[in-house]
Amino acid sequence: MGLAVAIIGSGPAAFYTAASLIAAAPDCGIDIIERLPTPFGLIRYGVAPDHEHTKNVMKAYSRTALSPQVRFFGNVEVGLHLSLDELRTMYDAVVLAVGAARDRPLGVPGDDKQGVIGSASFVGWYNGHPDFTDLAPNLATKGVVIVGQGNVAIDIARVLAKTPAEMARFDLCDHAAAAIDASPVADIYMVGRRGPIEAKFTNVELREMGHLENCNPVVEAGQLPATVEGEMSDRDRRMKDKNLASLRSFAETPPDPAKKKRIHFAFYAAPVEVLGGATVEGIRFERTKVEGGNAVGTGQFFEIPCGLVVAAIGYRSATVKDTPFDERQGVVKNDDGRVAPGLYAVGWIKRGPTGVIGTNKVDGEHCAEQVVADLKPTGKAGRPALEALLRQRKVRAISFADWQTIERAEIANARPGAPRRKFPRVADMLAVLEEARAAAS
Ligand SMILES: Cc1cc2nc3c(=O)[nH]c(=O)nc-3n(C[C@H](O)[C@H](O)[C@H](O)COP(=O)(O)OP(=O)(O)OC[C@H]3O[C@@H](n4cnc5c(N)ncnc54)[C@H](O)[C@@H]3O)c2cc1C
Repeated sequence: MGLAVAIIGSGPAAFYTAASLIAAAPDCGIDIIERLPTPFGLIRYGVAPDHEHTKNVMKAYSRTALSPQVRFFGNVEVGLHLSLDELRTMYDAVVLAVGAARDRPLGVPGDDKQGVIGSASFVGWYNGHPDFTDLAPNLATKGVVIVGQGNVAIDIARVLAKTPAEMARFDLCDHAAAAIDASPVADIYMVGRRGPIEAKFTNVELREMGHLENCNPVVEAGQLPATVEGEMSDRDRRMKDKNLASLRSFAETPPDPAKKKRIHFAFYAAPVEVLGGATVEGIRFERTKVEGGNAVGTGQFFEIPCGLVVAAIGYRSATVKDTPFDERQGVVKNDDGRVAPGLYAVGWIKRGPTGVIGTNKVDGEHCAEQVVADLKPTGKAGRPALEALLRQRKVRAISFADWQTIERAEIANARPGAPRRKFPRVADMLAVLEEARAAAS
């Protein structure tokens, strides 16, 4: 019998680890344990709905899930249905691949007002994550401020700016599509404390802003430097040059008066206070300048009226009970992925919320090498022990075949031309399985 491995989480880091383990130790048994009934983590619930091509990786992950060595246990939450310590007694190796789904708070007075939302929640809401279905962000407002200037901020701005026709071919959730369509939002501000060179968006995403049906990008020419200065790799410099060129073209192109929405790129502004009573009415910023790569306040302030503030300033990992957590970095304490004997970390819980999907592949490969180098099978029961425990606790685990039944229903329910219509509630997913079971009996 080979190694018994449990992977907690089913995002990219989990699937790359499983695929690498299959290659490195073909006789191992791998159980992927996911708190939601649905696999794929942020590929399903983070990547923007109108970037469907990015989600193609789900096909490769599905092939891994269908390998004979692998079993998927969806709807099973470690820390709720069973503990990490229990898993460690059942498996030779346990791999933490739980991601970093918590928002970093804005950290200014008033950030607890109704109408201040973190990007994980907002993105989860429009992507149909069951935790955020009832978020009800205040879109009865003309102004929305997104704090942050990375690709997540751009995704949010674009989803708010696109027309129903532009979104029709995608799987934007019905509740979000209806709320955005009904919203009077006209001005979307994407505000960063530093300048255009320091902004983190990539050029493909930035350029897209110049091709929206009903939205003009707005950039103050005076905020753009003449050239890209500072120490950086040639690759980064090329990207920054392209970003600067895109921003300059936005600044120089007269706005199309037929377009009713505007995305304002606002640089050199740090949030200092969210304004209003119980609910948000605006946000005050201090003008900054960049010194040695850092934003420094200038003592000049301005305000932007808005009814919704989305903080897109990064993520933190959720703590996993029974693991040492590095509060400062927001990740599980680990030595290049090793957490404790037989316990490993991969993906965002290991190294924080950075990089692209493929960055997790390197983690997965490395983790598989470590597991194979560190451990010999000890005869731990693995899967049968997990199944017995879940049965005993009456946990309704979702198999990969169950997920495929849910997926078929999502595809069958899709709008014409759209890839799927997600079920935004776990109860509805479970009802699909009950119906399928009743139909089969
Ligand atoms: C909004 C957004 C958009 C993005 N868009 C892109 C993009 O377009 N292109 C790109 O290259 N990258 C993109 N990324 C980055 C990419 O999604 C991440 O690199 C990747 O998802 C990280 O993988 P992960 O497996 O570490 O975490 P995740 O994908 O978050 O997966 C973690 C999984 O663990 C599960 N889990 C958590 N706790 C438990 C528990 N206690 N028990 C069981 N299961 C648990 C979660 O439900 C989740 O399914 C985006 C990220 C975000 C936030």
